[in-house]
Amino acid sequence: MKGMGITLKHLFDKKVTRQYPEYKKETFERSRGLLTVDMDRCIACLQCMRICPDHCISIEQEKRDADGSGKAKPYAVGFVIDDSRCMYCSLCVEVCPVNCIYHTEEFEAQAYNRLELARQFGERPVDPTIDPKPAVKKKPKAAKQAPKKEAAA
Ligand code: SF4
Ligand code: SF4
Repeated sequence: MKGMGITLKHLFDKKVTRQYPEYKKETFERSRGLLTVDMDRCIACLQCMRICPDHCISIEQEKRDADGSGKAKPYAVGFVIDDSRCMYCSLCVEVCPVNCIYHTEEFEAQAYNRLELARQFGERPVDPTIDPKPAVKKKPKAAKQAPKKEAAA
């Protein structure tokens, strides 16, 4: 009876939960949602790809005279962000020199297949299964050779 009393008491209390996803709370001003890239401004400097600790950004670039200046410059033809790996650390956003990669307010990312979480930008899809920064095995240091004994005079 005591337990039922508590249940009945809370039954008529003011609700503190929301029926998600019908009712969504507004995101905070500096919240970090899914990333997006403005490909028109990207200069294919690859800094975001290099700094990403989770290897989730892959960029395919080629030299192209995109602005008609007669000089070929790096151009991002393909750009993929793998949401299944991203930890929303925002390092890529901070390092971008032209502020063209940024967080949106969108935070829902779900799929039946992990590969569906790789979002493609640009004109050419990039294979998200290829690690953009494969680990490089360091060569073992050569053992220090003992100095040769000088021949006895
Ligand atoms: S937010 Fe962090 S983990 Fe996600 S893509 Fe950018 S650098 Fe990588
Ligand atoms: S850091 Fe910015 S400009 Fe450079 S490749 Fe990434 S998104 Fe493009």
